[in-house]
Amino acid sequence: MLLIRNAEVAALAPAAGRGAAALDVRCRGERIVEIGRGLAPAPGERLLDARGGALLPGLHDHHLHSFALGAALRSTPCGPPEVTTLEQLRAALESAPGAGWVRGVGYHESVAGRLCRDRLDALLRERPVRVQHRSGKMWFLNSAGVRAAGLEAASDGRMFRADEALRDWGGPGADIAGASRLLARYGVTGVTDATPGNDVETAAALKRRGMRQRVVLMGGESLREGALKIMLDEHSLPTFDALRGRIERAHGAARPVAIHCVTRAELVFALAALIDAGAGREDRIEHASVADADGLALVVQAGVTVVTQPNFIAERGAQYLREVAPAAHPHLYRCRAFIDAGAPLGGGTDAPFGKPDPWVAMRAAVTRQTADGRPIGGAEALTPERALALFTTHPADPGGAVREVAVGASADLCLLDRPWAQARETLLSEHVAATVIAGAIAFTRSA
Ligand SMILES: [Zn+2]
Repeated sequence: MLLIRNAEVAALAPAAGRGAAALDVRCRGERIVEIGRGLAPAPGERLLDARGGALLPGLHDHHLHSFALGAALRSTPCGPPEVTTLEQLRAALESAPGAGWVRGVGYHESVAGRLCRDRLDALLRERPVRVQHRSGKMWFLNSAGVRAAGLEAASDGRMFRADEALRDWGGPGADIAGASRLLARYGVTGVTDATPGNDVETAAALKRRGMRQRVVLMGGESLREGALKIMLDEHSLPTFDALRGRIERAHGAARPVAIHCVTRAELVFALAALIDAGAGREDRIEHASVADADGLALVVQAGVTVVTQPNFIAERGAQYLREVAPAAHPHLYRCRAFIDAGAPLGGGTDAPFGKPDPWVAMRAAVTRQTADGRPIGGAEALTPERALALFTTHPADPGGAVREVAVGASADLCLLDRPWAQARETLLSEHVAATVIAGAIAFTRSA
């Protein structure tokens, strides 16, 4: 039993108006059972003084990768902003802690061009090394890594979409409990794991290893429920009929699909297949990184939900401005345009490929600025309330109604250290004072 006292509740609903401040919220088991003024503490009840801070529905990250996030916590950063030169990359690999595998993450060509076995050997020979490209698509291995992985000696050390195999090769492992603690610091009470290789064992494995957040899985054909995750690569697209068939089989098994689309061509191809197969708001487009007027119209025609990552505007915006044609800049990670067109829109961080802090994504959705302050797609800016809503909808309906702090609702809560009227000005995770998951305190800043 938990009693949260003196909280600002429902501060975001204009209708609430005055009277939303200084309320007490009682949680019993996994539910909110009472909200009122001056509730008397029950014997044995744990007390949490909100000091007038806003009590929000717990955040749900609608797209991340739990095992990769846990592994990233035990990995060596090999790309911007930490590593930007060849010498910094050498130093990072040489100073990797522990013995055995060195697991590098976040590599980008701007550091030292395209990596391969020989280039990595020149940086570090003594330990098996594997370095992941920032996109998550590609791994690079040195010679010791090729041997340790049992690959043939002729391999050039480049492995495309090899996460499942690499998991078996061992290494530092994934710090799932650490990932869960980190997410709790941000007020995250639930996640949707978008990893294509998720199977029937994944949920139990995450729980066993210390994941406290509620987990919704998408995954491959071997998963019985949750969305079927379909990866698309512009350079090796399946046939239209093959994609439509996969969508239809998933729907036949009562599963929606979630299709990864980061280029314009992938988006148009996916939406055409979805429209042909018959789609609905349970079906999802992941990323929709580039959506022009045609893409937008097809999203609306298909009636599907888009799950976007505005944090990439902040985290990768400088590179987008360099590498993406200027005409496409207004089409990057759009927000306002989807909402105005009536398309359901939810938010995820894509951690560890994006930063796992949803407040970074909310802030970017509001400011639409790169890390060095340059604007991208200013017309796509959201209000702080709408940005928050990207992460406070029901896990099964990322673009749906915002969950409420109300009697009968799940006791998944994010308490801020100040009223919303102040918090909305900065949208910083540092203002998360406590996180409650299923009625239990998962994080308090004071503790
Ligand atoms: Zn992803």
